Amino acid sequence: MFERISLKNENIFAVKAKGVLTDADYKAFLPELEAFIKQKGTISAYVDLQEFKGWEAKAAWDDLKFGLAHDLDFERIAIIGTSSWQKWLINVSSIFFTADMRFFPPEKTQEALDWLQKKRGEANAPETERPFQPYSHILLASDFSPHAERAGRRAVELADKYGSSISVVHVLDNMIAYNEFSEPVVIDQVALYQELEASSRRLLEELVERLELTDRAKIHLLKGTPKSEILSFAQENEVDLIVVGSHGQRGLERILGSVAAGIVKRAECDVLTIHL
Ligand code: AMP
Repeated sequence: MFERISLKNENIFAVKAKGVLTDADYKAFLPELEAFIKQKGTISAYVDLQEFKGWEAKAAWDDLKFGLAHDLDFERIAIIGTSSWQKWLINVSSIFFTADMRFFPPEKTQEALDWLQKKRGEANAPETERPFQPYSHILLASDFSPHAERAGRRAVELADKYGSSISVVHVLDNMIAYNEFSEPVVIDQVALYQELEASSRRLLEELVERLELTDRAKIHLLKGTPKSEILSFAQENEVDLIVVGSHGQRGLERILGSVAAGIVKRAECDVLTIHL
């Protein structure tokens, strides 16, 4: 079942999921959430999964369907949980959704609330217009797809024009599932991940060579959720332009892929999406 949690901040929808969620739980709960979204516009959510045990099949479908329909209505989602499979769930969800999702252990609930709150405060801050500056640090995000390849060529062109430094970034999805003792569920997956890591590094090097950037670009192989990692990297490294392909390896039938859409929606610097 779902249990609403009352919070001081009226723009955060807070809920606790308990036990195994059923279709009936969703039928009872979703209208309330829908009404909240209708009233507030884009919202952030605080979801406590400490007592959550899973879904019945139909309920899992309800969850995905609602998530896809309201994808752009969520700004940030903080998940409070205790187990690694819940953390893993976020990685999987973030493939489909553009909302910025983060996992917090129970002892960090205040941090989770601060994180949800901060964004809303910033969103409400009055906008000040900055004068245009030449781009000084361009981030090229590549998943090694044809779109990203084309994005790479455009990034080089712009870096040449502006004399910018360039970081070429690939994010390795952290898709290993762990059990409650934090052990990998299938040991072979670790070997597979290590192999993926080595081949991704090789592909990054080859990409940089193809783009004739060997002497100028820095390669970064990051681990985690592509959208969040790219955004954090951009913020921490004073990136002023992110260049991505409009679509990637997954080829979903959307106007923009989910990584691209998430970056466009959340980045605090300019973003250029390159179509084939
Ligand atoms: P998508 O949104 O997944 O269709 O991908 C759109 C673009 O986002 C790609 O063309 C890449 O530029 C970038 N991208 C997607 N996944 C990754 C990743 N794992 N690492 C770096 N960039 C990525």
